[in-house]
Amino acid sequence: MIIVLKPQTTQEQADSILSILEKEGFRHNYIKGASQTVIGIIGDTTKLDEDSFRTYEFIEDIKRVSEPYKLANRKMHPENSVYNIAGREVGEGTFNVIAGPCSIETEEQVIEIAKAVKKSGASFLRGGAFKPRTSPYAFQGLHGEGLRLLSIAKKETGLPIVTEIMSQQDLPLFEDVDVIQVGARNMQNFELLKELGKIDKPILLKRGLASTLQEWIMSAEYIMAGGNSKVIFCERGIRTYETFTRNTLDLSAIPALKRLSHLPVIVDPSHATGLPWMVEPLSKAAVAVGADGLMIEVHNNPKKALCDGAQSLTPEQFDNVMKKVATQVKFENKKLWQPQ
Ligand code: PEP
Ligand code: MN
Repeated sequence: MIIVLKPQTTQEQADSILSILEKEGFRHNYIKGASQTVIGIIGDTTKLDEDSFRTYEFIEDIKRVSEPYKLANRKMHPENSVYNIAGREVGEGTFNVIAGPCSIETEEQVIEIAKAVKKSGASFLRGGAFKPRTSPYAFQGLHGEGLRLLSIAKKETGLPIVTEIMSQQDLPLFEDVDVIQVGARNMQNFELLKELGKIDKPILLKRGLASTLQEWIMSAEYIMAGGNSKVIFCERGIRTYETFTRNTLDLSAIPALKRLSHLPVIVDPSHATGLPWMVEPLSKAAVAVGADGLMIEVHNNPKKALCDGAQSLTPEQFDNVMKKVATQVKFENKKLWQPQ
């Protein structure tokens, strides 16, 4: 249930409602926005006497939220969520590019790539240390050692780091990580999501291979229900009958999520297509449909990459894509976050 307050409502008036809710044991979110102030009430609100609230002259409206997701729902939080992550603004109005290799291989590799993507304007470095591979015989990532190398690259370049977690047991190793990624295959690993709800780090939540928008938002709700409100969606393509591309990039998901939720949304054209030459057109398309950022795989030697080399851009190709993206971002009146 949502209580919308009139614009001229005083803090004392708002507090009087909050104290009633507290006395009755309701969990609530008080969101004072620039254009609207709302109190979102979470949990079973059937016992709440709507009519008694309607008697307050400073209450503009009371609405029931029919969707199963509450905290992630735009109705509960009419304004876009924007986060400050390591000095970067992430969300509506700004545009961030996360770039780097699929997996961390060596110190030289990650540092060379980090320096190159920074020079081209990426604002975050990505790289997998725990890799979810279809085959148990494929390279599984360097685990703790990979995270250590990522930290070295962070120190060297100043780029904050984004990396995937596969099990909650590994959380203690993620201390120096700026954004924790939940991969497509773990989008509905509810025990992992619950643990990530208890921490204070932004979570990049990739869309499951065959997940509906509602299932995806419900996964964000799991994290938020635990108290961690910093979730970023990442559309990375879904499984369809088409086999030309690795997955099918669902560009319609971006405006849909923007309508249903207040959380930032980014696009990963690398995993969505599996084709390096499609990264540029789909990156521009992502900007045009309202994405808040991109995640792109870049490798200094794609032919020798231990994972996803075929879809990775060379640093030169990435530099070209960034130039096109920058033009498109400007056209959309957004600010491209670039390292100084
Ligand atoms: C990745 O980002 O390297 C990755 C494994 O992505 P996804 O979970 O989208 O397949
Ligand atoms: Mn990959």
